[in-house]
Amino acid sequence: MIDNARTAPPVGLPAGRLAGRVVVVTGAGRGQGAAEARLARREGATVVAVDLATEPPEPLPHIDYRPLDITDAAGWAALAADLADRYGRVDGLVANAGITHRARVAELDPADLDRVHRVNVGGTLLAIQAVLPLMPAGGSIVVVGSSAALTGHYPVAYTASKWALRGLAKAACVDLGPRGIRINTVHPGYIETPMTAAAPPAFRAANIAETPLGRTGSVDEVAPLVVFLLSADAAFVTGAEIAVDGGLTAHGGVKSIGDALRVAS
Ligand code: NAD
Repeated sequence: MIDNARTAPPVGLPAGRLAGRVVVVTGAGRGQGAAEARLARREGATVVAVDLATEPPEPLPHIDYRPLDITDAAGWAALAADLADRYGRVDGLVANAGITHRARVAELDPADLDRVHRVNVGGTLLAIQAVLPLMPAGGSIVVVGSSAALTGHYPVAYTASKWALRGLAKAACVDLGPRGIRINTVHPGYIETPMTAAAPPAFRAANIAETPLGRTGSVDEVAPLVVFLLSADAAFVTGAEIAVDGGLTAHGGVKSIGDALRVAS
């Protein structure tokens, strides 16, 4: 049984915008997920961090770290049973884990399309399905999309999977609203993480050229938006999609035109 009453944070947990809440973050071993997990903890949540490695690559102090492949349905069932025993509820889910694959449309092996979808879309679905039975009214799910989900970004498997997440979140918003559960999507632009560090240097330079703020973003510029959406401050926000991209997706591809004319005049 889920007790909807907000309780005082357990001893040792700081008060904050997520005080008394239990939050699961996937892909939290490093990069954006690790920053989101740490900020949620600083805001008073009990944080369960999920990732592939036995030990998280980045430090996650005072966070309950669980090795789990998000595509493993049986693994999710076991984790959910344990979370039910240990915490009795899950108030927040950040479906952040994701992989990329940088093949263009003519080169893409359908097996890679399936693999990317299995993690980015299937893993997100399994995460949502696992926590829903433990989620009371007031619960909040944050899906991590991408600027690729708003554009025709060239890595087609990744782009298609992130567009699919938009549909998943919209349908879930309608379905879960009557239960008082919110679901929103954040769309990061180029954020400095191990994922983007693995891309060719030209990728970073081209992203900066397309970004009105003229720079890349940091994980600490994404995490506050995620915490806001998890918190009661966003109590009437659901089905929304919020870009955190320095303006990358705001100009519809016309930034280079304005840039060229600025140089010419
Ligand atoms: P990252 O590669 O640094 O971190 C992703 C984490 O997800 C890793 O720790 C990885 O082990 C984990 N993961 C991957 N597959 C998993 C699985 N099957 N089960 C459990 N964990 C798994 O990437 P990041 O840049 O921090 O990206 C986080 C999210 O943000 C991803 O969904 C990514 O697509 C999205 N995103 C990133 C950027 C960016 O510029 N970095 C931009 C837009 C969207």
